[in-house]
Amino acid sequence: MSKYIMALDAGTTSNRAIIFDKNGQVIAKAQKEFTQIFPKPGWVEHDPTEIWSTQLGVATEAMAKLNIEAKDLAATGITNQRETTIIWDKNTGLPVYNAIVWQCRRTADMTDSLRYKRLAEFFRKKTGLVLDPYFSATKIRWILDNIEDGQKRAEKGDLLFGTVDTWLIWKLTKGRVHVTDPSNASRTMLYNIHQNKWDQEILDLLNIPRSILPEIKNTSEVYGFTSEDYFGGKIAIGSSCGDQQAALFGQTCFEKGDAKNTYGTGAFLLMNTGENPIDTEKGLITTLAWMIDGKPTYALEGSIFVAGSSVQWLRDSLRIIDSAQDSEYMATRVDDTDGVYFVPAFTGLGAPYWDPYARGALVGLTRGTNKYHIVRATLESQAYLSNDVLEIMAKEAGLKINSIKVDGGASANNFLMGFQADISQHEVERPKVLETTALGASYLAGLAVGFWKDLDDIKNNWILDQRYKPKMGMDERNNKYSKWKEAIKRSLNWAKEN
Ligand code: ADP
Repeated sequence: MSKYIMALDAGTTSNRAIIFDKNGQVIAKAQKEFTQIFPKPGWVEHDPTEIWSTQLGVATEAMAKLNIEAKDLAATGITNQRETTIIWDKNTGLPVYNAIVWQCRRTADMTDSLRYKRLAEFFRKKTGLVLDPYFSATKIRWILDNIEDGQKRAEKGDLLFGTVDTWLIWKLTKGRVHVTDPSNASRTMLYNIHQNKWDQEILDLLNIPRSILPEIKNTSEVYGFTSEDYFGGKIAIGSSCGDQQAALFGQTCFEKGDAKNTYGTGAFLLMNTGENPIDTEKGLITTLAWMIDGKPTYALEGSIFVAGSSVQWLRDSLRIIDSAQDSEYMATRVDDTDGVYFVPAFTGLGAPYWDPYARGALVGLTRGTNKYHIVRATLESQAYLSNDVLEIMAKEAGLKINSIKVDGGASANNFLMGFQADISQHEVERPKVLETTALGASYLAGLAVGFWKDLDDIKNNWILDQRYKPKMGMDERNNKYSKWKEAIKRSLNWAKEN
């Protein structure tokens, strides 16, 4: 009986392989960064061959650390940076262009022109997404337009498209399997989230040939086996899941109203909304969380552009803290911010404000303000911004939030987690295993091969590290939150030319 599951976690800056046991504990891991390519301002690319070779390398390394063979792995699962677009020649197996990364803004003109044609609603209704260069559709169009005979070769059936999951599965199976899953497909802006299939009207509009697209399978299903050439034997490939949705699964947010927040450079909030897609008008994204046995589960997603990076700003630009960890100790040197609020709108504000012209604001300063107040206000801003998104999510979905499960680098900050509980008036729960993304991919792959029986079997693995209960009185909470909304108003529209 195989004892382990291996997750291949293909991130934006590094690829990782993590091997888990049946209890969901990390047994071995390996990680390698790869090159970030910035050909022009606002453009971001990766070399697909390097993505593949580093991913294969770390998988081999993690297995070597444990001294295990292919037969010791019940399955492997894939989780990946989403939206990033790769097109390759199916005859040679070689990419026809670099991967265009989700962050890349090169197709902003294309999405602008679709917006001028009043197509934003058309896309939102079908795909659940806002019209933005972030998603894969315009990136595909760009590659086909910018390589020699792109459209012709695609129409002839020589080219294949994939997000990173699809590319890795195709490479692992030596070109035998060309698939993706709904959590990834729903980020392409070509996928109809109501019908759960590629949307022919969108394909026609963008003139993207159907033949380049992968087949859409369940998020948890054996798609095929790794070629024996790689790991000395075959390993079942049992899942493909976008990173944020995998984290939602890894946090065992299986019920409607279960939410998770990942506090990293930015913050990513997702809430399980059950079997129905929620039509959102406040700029959240409606996405597929996963599909299991043909049954879709949907999520609402909201992201905050600046979260942990505001703490880096305190460290590297203001130099009032030595390390991100120190922010906790410094914030607790004072009882409160003494009326100081910090809105870290360095690059504008996302949901629910959607103001690209908003800029950072530090308000409420007095002669008595010191650096501890500013550090505290910076941490508090992450909780306020998260709550802004959570409130909209609950309202739009008509759901009560059950609890907030947290992960990511800044979830280690006890002050921040406690304040999050106070401001959102929900319990905040941090699990022992914070590798929730890789864990989610493992659970999904393990379910596909019967390594775990069912969702209850998996739920038992979620072990609490710390629970933060709301402690602040409602009056104090409401006062603070309404002042925060005032601070937000001061930051809006700041950079707009008159
Ligand atoms: P990412 O995956 O986006 O690179 P991580 O999950 O590794 O991010 O988290 C790193 C971010 O979290 C950094 O921006 C850092 O400033 C912040 N951070 C890390 N530890 C703490 C802490 N103890 N308190 C507050 N912020 C922290």
